Formats: sequence, C-alpha cells, structure tokens
Amino acid sequence: MSAPTPAPAIWHVALPVPVPRLFDYRPATGAAIAGDVGCRVRVPFGPRELVGVITGTGAPDPQAPELRSGERLDAAPLFQGELLESLRWLARYTHAPLGEVFATALPAPLRQGEALADTRAWGWRLTEAGLTALPRLRGKPRRLAELLAASERSEDALAEQLDDWRAAARALTGRGLVEREPLPDTRTPASPSAGPALNSEQQAAVDALLAARDGFAPVLLDGITGSGKTEVYLHAIADCLARGRQALVLVPEIGLTPQTLRRFRERLGVPVHALHSGLGDGERARTWAACLRGEARVIVGTRSAVFLPLPRAGLIVIDEEHDGSFKQLDGIRYHARDFALVRAKALGIPIVLGSATPSLESLRNAKAGRYAHLRLQARAGRARPPRVRVVDVRKRPLDAGMSPELFEAIAATLHDGAQALVFKNRRGYAPVLLCHDCGWSAQCTRCDAPMTVHAGGRRLQCHHCGARRPAPDACPDCGGLALQAQGAGTERIEEALTKRFPDVPVLRIDRGTTQRRDALEKLLHDFGSAPGILVGTQMLAKGHDLPNLTLVAVVGVDEGLFSADFRAPEKLAQLLIQVAGRAGRAAQPGDVLLQTHHPQHALLATLLGGGYRAFAEAELAQREAAGFPPFAHLALLRAEAKQLEATHAFLQAARAALRDAGDALELHGPLPAPMPRRAGYQRAQLLLSAPERRTLHAALDAALPAIHALPEARRVRWSLDVDPVDL
Ligand code: ADP
Ligand code: ZN
Ligand code: ZN
Repeated sequence: MSAPTPAPAIWHVALPVPVPRLFDYRPATGAAIAGDVGCRVRVPFGPRELVGVITGTGAPDPQAPELRSGERLDAAPLFQGELLESLRWLARYTHAPLGEVFATALPAPLRQGEALADTRAWGWRLTEAGLTALPRLRGKPRRLAELLAASERSEDALAEQLDDWRAAARALTGRGLVEREPLPDTRTPASPSAGPALNSEQQAAVDALLAARDGFAPVLLDGITGSGKTEVYLHAIADCLARGRQALVLVPEIGLTPQTLRRFRERLGVPVHALHSGLGDGERARTWAACLRGEARVIVGTRSAVFLPLPRAGLIVIDEEHDGSFKQLDGIRYHARDFALVRAKALGIPIVLGSATPSLESLRNAKAGRYAHLRLQARAGRARPPRVRVVDVRKRPLDAGMSPELFEAIAATLHDGAQALVFKNRRGYAPVLLCHDCGWSAQCTRCDAPMTVHAGGRRLQCHHCGARRPAPDACPDCGGLALQAQGAGTERIEEALTKRFPDVPVLRIDRGTTQRRDALEKLLHDFGSAPGILVGTQMLAKGHDLPNLTLVAVVGVDEGLFSADFRAPEKLAQLLIQVAGRAGRAAQPGDVLLQTHHPQHALLATLLGGGYRAFAEAELAQREAAGFPPFAHLALLRAEAKQLEATHAFLQAARAALRDAGDALELHGPLPAPMPRRAGYQRAQLLLSAPERRTLHAALDAALPAIHALPEARRVRWSLDVDPVDL
C-alpha cells in the first residue's frame, strides 16, 4: 500500500531581493492551494518584512528546518494567466529575479502590501444635522457644507471646486454633519464623435488591422508625420471597444499630452485612463485595479503601462515605436515595445507599431516578413510636406550659433505672420565655461564631464549628477578674468533672438521651463498662434499641434554627426525627421533649415536625397557589415565602484566565467564606460555579443550563478543590461 501523497503545504514566494531564487513559507492559517498562485504575501525576511508574490505551492522538505509563516494579502490573484506567464518570460529574458520583476510591474501601494484600490466613484452628502448646523459653520467647512447643501457631489467634483476639501470633510464627518457614500455609476458614455473621412491609405491600414484582429498580428505602421496614423489607431480602438475588449496605447514620455488624451476621449466616447510618471501613487494604483477588473477600456500610458493587467485585451498600440524612452535604463532594464510584443503574442491580439521613423530593429523585422508593413505616404488632409534645405555655415559669422541666413529666414517668416522654431538639443546657456588665457574649463568634480553654464552665465550645473555651483568671477587656475561661455544652449539662443526680434514673443521650451507636467501646454497655449519664435530641445519635437509654425531651424546638427555610439546616426536621422515634421502641418507648406559645417556628410545627403527610407537601408547595410544589432544581439555588464581596480577585477572575473560558458560569444572589455566617472563612481563595462539570441542567453544562464557568487562582486555595484541602448 502506498502512502497518500501529502497535500501541498507550502508556498514558493518570489521576493523583491537581488538574488535569483524563490523562498519557501507556510501559510499562517489554512492550507496552501494552487489558487494562491499570483497572490501577494507578507513574509518575514531576516529582520524585515517583505511583500512577495506566490509563484507555486509544494510539499515541505522533511530535511529542511521549520519554515517561517507568511500572510496572504489577496483574496484573488493579482497576476494570473497571460500576465503571470509574460512576467516569468521577462525575468528569464532580463536574467533578473522574478520577485524584482513583479515589484517593477506593480504600482507602489500594491508593492507595499496595500489592498487593491477601490475603483468605485465616491460622493459626499450633507446630513440632516449638517443642514441644521450649516449657519454656525465657518471657513472651509462652511464652504463645503454649502456646496453639499446644493447637491450631493462626487469627490472628483469637490477636488475641482474646493482646495483642501478633504480636511474639511474629515472635520465634518467627525461631528456627523457629512457622509461619504459610493455613487451609482452614472458615467454614461458620451457619444463618440466622428473623425475625418479616411483617405485610401488610411482605410487600407484600418482594413488590414480589422482583418487581423482575431490573433497575434504585429503590424508596422510606417507613416510620415501628419499622415494620420493616430486616426488609424482610433478606428482600430473603436472596433476593439465595440467587441467589448480593452485597448492599451503606449506613447513616449513627452508624447502624452492633455491634447492627445482629449482627442482620444472625444473620439472614442469612453473614459480614457492615463498612466504616466506625473501621476500620484494612488491614481496609478486605481488605474491598475480598474484594468485588472476589466473596467478600464482604453489606457494611454508611458513605458510602465506595459505591465497593466489586460484580462479583456483586444489591441496594443505603440506610438512612436522608435522612441528611446520605451527602454528602462535602471532596475529591470526592459524595453516596453519588445515586452508589449511578447504580451500581444501571448494574448493572441494585434499590436501596431507606429512611427514616421521606425527603428532599424522593426524595419528589419518587417523586411523579414515577421511584421506586416503598412505605409502611409501622403500627409492627411491639406498639409504639404516641408521643403528641407541645408545651410552651410562654414566661415559664416555666427551669433549664438545662428547664421545670417537663419536670421533672414526667421524675419521673413515673422513678416508673413507665421511662427518659427529654433531647435537645439542642449539646454542651458552654454555647454562649457572656458578660460581664454590658460585653457582651463569648468569640470564637474564628481563626473568626467564639463559643467553647463546656466542663468546667463551666473551658475554652473552638471547635467549628469545634478551638482550646482556659482560660476567663478576669475579663472581658478590663472586668476585671469577672460572666462568665456563656449557654444550655445537654448538659453543663449533665446537671449540672442530676443535681442534681434524685440517685437515678437520668444518662448523657450526645455526641462528648465517646464518642470510641471502641464506647464508645456499652458506655455504653448499662452504663446498662441500670433507671430513669434519658439526655442526648444526635443521636448518640442512632437506632440502639440502648432498650426501656424512654418519654419523649423535645426542648430547643432553637427553634434550628432560624430559620435562613438553606433546608434547615433539612427537617433540623429529620427530627430531631424521628427523636428522637420513640425513645419507646415496645416494648410501652409513649411521650410526646414539644417545648419551644418558638414554639408556633404553622407547622412545628410542620404536623408535629403531619399528620406528616412533611404537612410535606413544604408544604415542597415552598415550595421550588417559591422555585426551590430539588429544583426547581432548584445548584453552589457556594467560595474561601478569608488576604486577603478574593483570594477576591473570584477569584470575580468566575469569575463572568465562567460568564456567558460561558451565560445560562440564575443566579449569586448573590460572597457571604460562612455562616461568613465559619474557622481564620484568609477565606471567600466564588458560588452557581450552573439549572432544568435539563443547563444547569448545560454551563455548568460550558464555563467550568471558563478558571477553572482564572485568574491569580486561584493566590492562593486554591478548590473546586466540585455539589449542595451546606451553603450
Ligand atoms: P500622425 O499621427 O500620423 O502624425 P494624425 O493622425 O495626428 O497624424 O493626423 C494629422 C492631422 O491630420 C490631424 O490634425 C488629423 O486630424 C488630420 N487628419 C488625419 N486624417 C485625416 C483625413 N483622412 N482627412 C483629413 N484630416 C485628417
Ligand atoms: Zn585661466
Ligand atoms: Zn557631475
């Protein structure tokens, strides 16, 4: 007679700790059952308590010491089905601990063990006692009582009508004068508004998407700026809603504007949930819960929205799929576009990657037939494509980096009653402060980088570690007074333009002028459409419609032409096309001026002659010849420490471990990082390259346990980045 198999009695738990293994606990009460998988637990861990996620159940090991017990926090799993499997995939792909992947996927309140947010709408009303007491009340409580005496109000409405209403409500609740209660769901969907009639290219794209809606279907929507890609998304989303499904739209950090949200709300006629870094934790947690419950139908969000649960998923859209902000640069280094592709496949739904300048990775996938390739080659509506001209600035007198031709073009634009944009991807007053007598320049003491001059020359600031100090009056080395701000950032350009064009507004848009999320929209709104000049960094490269903008001038093209990063040409070409796309979006054609000292440069010639398509073809051929992505697969092992020797010792040891793991791997390094010292840390890296993804991951799987165990690993901070974007 065989003994009955014991019921599973313990949980395997993934915890947010940097060790790639699971931990066993037993339930404080009741039995561990399979249905617990995907629920959070609070468990003791050393002297601390941690919140983890149950990933499996099992029988206790009779040899093992008595397990500590944990408390299950959720009645139903937060992670299950597709999302659970996709996150397991992500942990394997990034070679990160599963517990840290779960923690990355959750909004802060859920990560810390709070209950799943209530997604009902709440309102407040005045009680009988409140009505009687009203005449005796003063200040905020009085104003709140008056509002509620007129009618019961939702918390959303109160937040708009009265600052600090919660404090007043709390005071009145204590005396029984007001009451909180759930509101009936009266959010009757507004009727969707019709958009413009689609042109034939748009219609063909929509038809292709609808035809593919019943399974996994990756689609590259390759359409020039203003060709109406967003209209195509809106039609596909409307179809998705009509079938009772959810749609997730990922946008770059600077693309999520109130304008975008308004357009989606008005056109779709359903509430649109926004998820971005500017939201409070509570708001993020509510959106997460609303997605899990299937209540949120359309979600527009930045990178981290890729982790939202989508139990009724119907469509994923990645707008501006080439954008660098989809890659997370620390912690779990995921790429939101790539992870979204994995999820769409597991969900069995279409995914649209839209861009005017597709990434070389996506173009290659389209060429190889892995993605459908849909093109929109005409500007929608009446808009004409801009005229692009290269301005040779060699030997020309420059003022804040701007040539006489540029000033003439701006003057002509203003004279025509239109607006001009001067684009410079460098904020601050000047990139360097230099002593003309001895050559001293202001360097950050903690980074290998010059300090940027700000505030018209009065302040120095490091853009890498944030250090600030006043600019010296005299050279610290030779005592001379010939300190000069070299080069021009947006502040200096603004100053020069204000001097030359005193009669029109000059508005600077960069991170310095738009600290708050809604600041950009307000600034542009106040700027209006009267003649004027915008000066800005890449914050201005997309988003807001600027219908009266007819001239775009790019200053500082040259900084991007000569860079060690193999992705620099791709980034520059994308930026130039995106910025140029800002000109002439409405009825007026636009002009684009590219100022350069290298008018013959191959990149500019190809881009001007054949557009982004020609550039991408040429660049793909070069990448293939050089063995760079997408023709090779990379991972980067980074290490930093106060002592340079420590980083090298670790990377040398890691190199040896990787060498043992397979010889199909190419190893480069240890080499200094692009910025060898930052915020006081020495930084070095080891680059891994393999022609096949499989080879790369097999070697990492084999070597990482040994690398984790290296004694040298304890003397550095190290991390692994699969598919790094900044080498
Ligand atoms: P993209 O996302 O490709 O930059 P949009 O969808 O934002 O393009 O469209 C650019 C502009 O053209 C918008 O103002 C939009 O309302 C308009 N538009 C789009 N499609 C059409 C169309 N078929 N007819 C007229 N106007 C259109
Ligand atoms: Zn000097
Ligand atoms: Zn610094």
